[in-house]
Amino acid sequence: MAASGVGASDVAGLPPAPEVIQIEVGLLQNFCEILYCPETREAAIVDPAFEVDRLLREAAGAGLTVRTVLVTHTHHDHIDGVEETVRRTGARVVVHPNEADKVRPLARDLHLVGDREDLAIGRRGVRALATFGHTVGGTCYLADGWVVTGDVLFVGGCGRTDFPGGDTAALWRSLQRLCELPEETRVYPGHDYGSTRTSSIGREMLENPYLRCGTFEEFRELRERKRKA
Ligand SMILES: [Zn+2]
Ligand SMILES: [Zn+2]
Repeated sequence: MAASGVGASDVAGLPPAPEVIQIEVGLLQNFCEILYCPETREAAIVDPAFEVDRLLREAAGAGLTVRTVLVTHTHHDHIDGVEETVRRTGARVVVHPNEADKVRPLARDLHLVGDREDLAIGRRGVRALATFGHTVGGTCYLADGWVVTGDVLFVGGCGRTDFPGGDTAALWRSLQRLCELPEETRVYPGHDYGSTRTSSIGREMLENPYLRCGTFEEFRELRERKRKA
């Protein structure tokens, strides 16, 4: 009962969703997203790490002004392009306080985001969901109809927990929280590790072995068995 209450309040009163451009960059199959307001042409870039020039050309080509960088977590393959993005756009950088130390030297204008905080992108917006476990400050960005999941949830997989700051129990709780979102919610993962570039919460609940686990013990056993894979 309590769990469904959590899901309901995660989506209650969401602002209208930005448009999404998904771009695969670098050699680690990373996805970046450009999120933008079609009315004001203001944009946010999620996790710029590689090929910043290409990302900014995409944004400029679509007539967008990049005002914000949204960080899902601070592994190198998600933040290595933050400094260049800030230098070239002056964008404000959004990160959870638990991981702010790694981003502070890269950002002139840092915004520490809390759980369930709404962030405006022009007249559209996203909501930060604190989803720890892969890292200590992992954050998903939820909009009305979709969610950017970073390295918390992949198509057919989930983040590792054997890096520093990893916590298998916390990741389990984060994934359970994502499972409370409406099943049609589109999933934009942090890496192109699955059979498709995006998925939905409903499809992942049916097909993703980590979301099919009925108990935390089952999840932990699977996560630890596959950790070196
Ligand atoms: Zn990561
Ligand atoms: Zn990653």
